[in-house]
Amino acid sequence: MIKINVHKCISCGSCCQSCPCQAITMVDNKPKVDEKKCISCGSCCQSCPLKLIKLKV
Ligand code: SF4
Ligand code: SF4
Repeated sequence: MIKINVHKCISCGSCCQSCPCQAITMVDNKPKVDEKKCISCGSCCQSCPLKLIKLKV
């Protein structure tokens, strides 16, 4: 499960593009995760320029 600090998000869209499962979509310019699609690969965490995404186990 991933956790995104949306308050600091600059809406760059990098996390959405990095996800191999299309689990992240931009809703009102903020990333929203579909937990059912997420495979916890960590790609989005790496892609965020501000490191706002954390993978929680
Ligand atoms: S952890 Fe992987 S599958 Fe889950 S939202 Fe991030 S990039 Fe997509
Ligand atoms: S990569 Fe980071 S800053 Fe860019 S949209 Fe995703 S959470 Fe926001």
